[in-house]
Amino acid sequence: MTRVVRCTCGTEVRHADEAELIRQVQQHAREAHDLVLSDDQVRDMVEVEP
Ligand SMILES: [Zn+2]
Repeated sequence: MTRVVRCTCGTEVRHADEAELIRQVQQHAREAHDLVLSDDQVRDMVEVEP
């Protein structure tokens, strides 16, 4: 199963591993939006694709 987070800017971050996905989303948010997200905030955004 792939996990995906769709950012408000249209960027999609996909990863099978949740911990790595969270890390990549946090990096995107920081670099693209100057935004610091907690692990829980990212988890709320995660959708699971079959
Ligand atoms: Zn974004």
